[in-house]
Amino acid sequence: MNPDAISLLDAFNGKGANSPWVDEILKQHRNTPSLIVDLDHVRSKARSFVSSMPRIQPHYAMKANPHPEILKVLIEEGVRFEIASIAELDMLLALNVPAREIFYSNPIKPLQYIEYAAQKGVEWYVLDSIDELDKIVSVYPAAKLYLRVETQNLGADWPLTGKFGATLPEIHQIIEEAKKLNANLSGVTFHVGSQCRNLENWHIGVENAKIVFNMMTDIGFEPVLLDIGGGFPVQYTKPIPTIEDISESINSAIADLPESIQVIAEPGRFMVGDSSHMVSRVIGTATRHGTRWIYLDTGVFHGLMETVEGMRFELFTETGGAKIPCTVAGPSCDSMDVIMRDEMLPINLQEGDYVCFQNMGAYSTAYASDFNGFPKPEVIAFSR
Ligand SMILES: *Cc1c(COP(=O)(O)O)cnc(C)c1O
Repeated sequence: MNPDAISLLDAFNGKGANSPWVDEILKQHRNTPSLIVDLDHVRSKARSFVSSMPRIQPHYAMKANPHPEILKVLIEEGVRFEIASIAELDMLLALNVPAREIFYSNPIKPLQYIEYAAQKGVEWYVLDSIDELDKIVSVYPAAKLYLRVETQNLGADWPLTGKFGATLPEIHQIIEEAKKLNANLSGVTFHVGSQCRNLENWHIGVENAKIVFNMMTDIGFEPVLLDIGGGFPVQYTKPIPTIEDISESINSAIADLPESIQVIAEPGRFMVGDSSHMVSRVIGTATRHGTRWIYLDTGVFHGLMETVEGMRFELFTETGGAKIPCTVAGPSCDSMDVIMRDEMLPINLQEGDYVCFQNMGAYSTAYASDFNGFPKPEVIAFSR
């Protein structure tokens, strides 16, 4: 790979001078904002996931970051995929991913999308309501179906309960309706919430899934799939359980599942979150009601969407020195475009300075728009 890329990665990894990443960015005339992706790190995350949970086939949730270079590395590592839309499906088909290995895990799918996916050879479809069951079966009666059940999201920094997941009484009704329709109900899934820092959630999810398996078997179905979803965390500013801790809990919970049940997971954030750094520049500063405001060339609409729900990312500056609490905002004229408040930043931080958000590989550029005329970050993906 190109030597520039190596020195930039080394600079980020703290080898070299005082603020080496800034020197490298300058030397290489890199524009901001940009997302610098270390593909080797993505590869090592995929390997650590597989080695810590040997029974579990990962299906990457590509919404976290669908950059083609990332998808290619994951394909090389034997990772499969889950999708939410046919645009995502088309990206994978273009990379020669076999359709039968792709899981359609969005609980609400447009009718035409189901038709299209079925025609392309996608076999597995999730549902969490009778309405969606009827819809899928009406266009693709032989679809293999898995039921998304509600589960505890306590201790997840980005909870997902409330939008998706069937509750116990609904599960009963769905299973009965599936029986009536002679549908191919074959699996159970749950999602513990994104950036889940509570080990217990997976254990509870698996135990609940076993209850649903029993309900399914009682009525004559033969379950063959457990999909434990995503939620595996990466290190931001709060402590997280390691993948070893998490896998210990999951491996023990799935140990008594019969061999006939295939177990998969849908990690998104885990695979890419800590692979990337977002480089940005200060475009202006102001003091308002005594508070120091720092405006950057990237913001909520341009890659930092997750900060609106209070997620914090570590921010490095090229200058050091005494620090004061600052409000950090994006470039647009929308009042929602505030990235963080009370962030301790150097007093002398000024227009033109570089800043760098750490661990921004997931749900960053995937969310980004060019709202208000400001460009999305350029994605620069490297491997050695
Ligand atoms: C978003 C999503 C995931 C990935 O979640 P992470 O928290 O990024 O691991 C997995 N499965 C489904 C169905 C999702 O919607």
